[in-house]
Amino acid sequence: MLKYANFDIVFQEVPDEVTLAINISNCPNQCVGCHSKYLWEDRGEVLDKEALDRLIDEYQTGITCVCFMGGDAEPYDVANLAMHVKNKYKTIKTAWYSGRNELPKAFHAETFDYIKTGRYEEKLGALDSITTNQRMVKRLADGRMKDITNRFQKQTEKTMLL
Ligand code: SF4
Repeated sequence: MLKYANFDIVFQEVPDEVTLAINISNCPNQCVGCHSKYLWEDRGEVLDKEALDRLIDEYQTGITCVCFMGGDAEPYDVANLAMHVKNKYKTIKTAWYSGRNELPKAFHAETFDYIKTGRYEEKLGALDSITTNQRMVKRLADGRMKDITNRFQKQTEKTMLL
């Protein structure tokens, strides 16, 4: 059963979107240098369709995207919730931050407009590092997925040039 520890409205996790980011607990990845160890525990509130509706309905007029942060222990449940968002809230996009290098077998990736993959490797850095191993892709209008990782790195590159 998916649970979430907390949530926030964020602006940088998904480029060009105002995002309701839901932090899912029971993370199985145990990355060295993890910045969110509190998500390793199976804790928080149940995240099912009803709970998701309550969160979205509270912020619906202000958000353009719902992002599931984690959920690698139960990825198919995450995809089912994303499908629910697609079916019920036609204008809200969906995103998933996975901590795994590859998507699960037979995973319904088409339920997401954005997907971030890649373990957190401390020496390589997160999406905003130019050496990162992580990738974010965006679904284009024709269904193809485009790598948009460089959208996170522009600020870093600019800083390095100064
Ligand atoms: S996937 Fe994220 S929350 Fe999970 S261990 Fe890795 S860095 Fe921490």
